[in-house]
Amino acid sequence: MSDSKIIVALDYPSESEAFQLIDKLDADLCRLKVGKEMFTHLGPDFVEKIQTRGFDVFLDLKYHDIPNTVAKACEAAASLGVWMLNVHASGGSRMMEAAANAVANHQNKPYLIAVTILTSMSQQDLSELGINVTPAEQALKLAGLAQSSGLDGIVCSAQEAPVMRQHFKDDFLLVSPGIRPAGSKADDQRRIMTPVDALKAGSNYLVIGRPITQSDDPLGVLRTINSEIS
Ligand code: C5P
Repeated sequence: MSDSKIIVALDYPSESEAFQLIDKLDADLCRLKVGKEMFTHLGPDFVEKIQTRGFDVFLDLKYHDIPNTVAKACEAAASLGVWMLNVHASGGSRMMEAAANAVANHQNKPYLIAVTILTSMSQQDLSELGINVTPAEQALKLAGLAQSSGLDGIVCSAQEAPVMRQHFKDDFLLVSPGIRPAGSKADDQRRIMTPVDALKAGSNYLVIGRPITQSDDPLGVLRTINSEIS
């Protein structure tokens, strides 16, 4: 098992394209995130294949349903052997407690984390849902609910990490996307932070996609980032 803090986001439409990248990576230097697109195309077989190659998998399916259904889905993910999985905190405390209980007794218990407010949601999007506080306030409230429900952490931007760290101790994991190594393109990310700064801000794990996946030398980029943060 890797002890790297880097989680490479695999956002590909096909297995062959994903393996063109995976074949160049080193399981000691990163973990891999499989999201809805790849899982819907390729299913658990793909997760098993990459785990067989030694990579830890963050299964980013953001479950949100009635407690029993989410618990069963989390149980299935834990049985698949994933290292980390997530649910939507807005599913509520009973849903999150059911999810936490479902994975608690697993031999290799995966980390179970929560998505609070999607970064795509604006103040107006929240008002349309009848939520009349700022996205940051709602994210903090949902993070507290995730913690009291027994979850291991949350997904949050590195910009939000300092505020989260004021409220939650170091063992509550902060997993942050929107990371860009110094000098790389922002792509469509609006608020970015370098790996070093994100860890200083309090993030524990860094989700990095295009700066690695679109590079001519993905392993080189991975090595550079690992050496900068070690
Ligand atoms: O290529 P890039 O580094 O921007 O990829 C970031 C990954 O993190 C993508 O898989 C994206 O869907 C995911 N993500 C994000 N922002 C969030 C939540 C997830 O960029 N708030």
